[in-house]
Amino acid sequence: MTSAPVLPVDRPATAPRSFHVLAKPSGPICNLDCSYCFFLEKEALYPGDRFRMTDDVLHAYIRQVIESQAAPEVTIAWQGGEPTLMGLDFFRRAVAYAEECGGPHRTLHHTIQTNGTLLTDEWCAFLREKQFLVGISIDGPELLHDVYRVDKQGRPTYERVKVGLDRLTRAGVEWNVLCTVHAANQALPVEVYRFFRDELGAKFVQFIPIVERVTEGSDELTDRSVNPAAWGEFLTAVFDEWVRHDVGEVFVQMFDAALASWYGAPAALCIFAETCGNAVALEHNGDLYSCDHFVDPAHLLGNITETHMVELMASPQQRAFGNAKRDTLPTQCRECPVLFACRGECPKNRVRVTAAGEPGLNELCEGYLHFFTHIDGVMRLMVDALARGGHAGEVVETFASAGRNDPCPCGSGRKAKHCHG
Ligand code: SF4
Ligand code: SF4
Repeated sequence: MTSAPVLPVDRPATAPRSFHVLAKPSGPICNLDCSYCFFLEKEALYPGDRFRMTDDVLHAYIRQVIESQAAPEVTIAWQGGEPTLMGLDFFRRAVAYAEECGGPHRTLHHTIQTNGTLLTDEWCAFLREKQFLVGISIDGPELLHDVYRVDKQGRPTYERVKVGLDRLTRAGVEWNVLCTVHAANQALPVEVYRFFRDELGAKFVQFIPIVERVTEGSDELTDRSVNPAAWGEFLTAVFDEWVRHDVGEVFVQMFDAALASWYGAPAALCIFAETCGNAVALEHNGDLYSCDHFVDPAHLLGNITETHMVELMASPQQRAFGNAKRDTLPTQCRECPVLFACRGECPKNRVRVTAAGEPGLNELCEGYLHFFTHIDGVMRLMVDALARGGHAGEVVETFASAGRNDPCPCGSGRKAKHCHG
């Protein structure tokens, strides 16, 4: 173990200045068995493996991720499977080693994504002390959550998640909600959002669409997958609720990312970035993959115990993976009025052909076109407020002060009383 802070390594010219690593210390292994989980099939990549990150890999990850970042801020991110299966002592060692390597000149941010069911008070005290940001996977109120989020016996999990969440809250841990949107909850956007806001007290919410292939490589999707039009309606309905009540109070990752696009800032979310390649996945054994959604042999970059991750990030293979997102867009996307915000979304969801017969159209295209078109007026209001030195939250007041017979502030051209947008 080192006893001195590490210094930045020499960076190959093609290495990104900063990048994000999602480390999976227990690989795809989880104590639950959610119906739509794409990690479970990944066990087949490492047959017979125990899926436990060794301390050698742990040290290589932390040391290299700190050495690799040009910026003083470094995020150490953990995900699964279910990372808490590694046990608390593993994370105590991880943080202690990160603090040694980081030294006084690096600001460390620790994050962990969990289903919450294994969180004890001892866990929560540690997470609080080390200022972890904890992402909790929860799909809405109990009846909606329990449709697909079940354990290995097929039993519902909501109550166990809620116990973990309550422990986090009592301990004062900062947490956010990660909600997948699928066939079971897609029709109830406002109910789901209000539940997070009003029942759980969530301040940060992420929505992730489930687009799940029937078999690897097939373009046929499961019945659990979100319907493209319903995905657009879902985002639109939550946006309308948020913009009237919660801007500046509740942060919805997708809306923040949209605002960044309208403002002309770099994309805040990889799915809406022009290119990929700056968010990699680290398996338990040190194998580094192009992205968490492409953990397969074709996207294996190498192993960080043999090659430094900054070199793997700079490799022609990873740069080509990143640029392919932009370079394989079909003409329909290239000519789309909301391309600047959508960017064809995530390549893993590009399973459709366009009307002209070109491959590479996103399954969720219809939904995104509807959503981004719908929010244009409000986004312009927010950008105007920011340009005047104000803040995006002023828009809540704009809506509140609009008379029922006034034109709706959303820019639809309809009277406010007739407008939901
Ligand atoms: S493949 Fe999808 S999830 Fe991965 S970096 Fe690209 S947009 Fe993000
Ligand atoms: S809305 Fe559809 S056509 Fe437009 S950029 Fe997105 S996926 Fe492409």
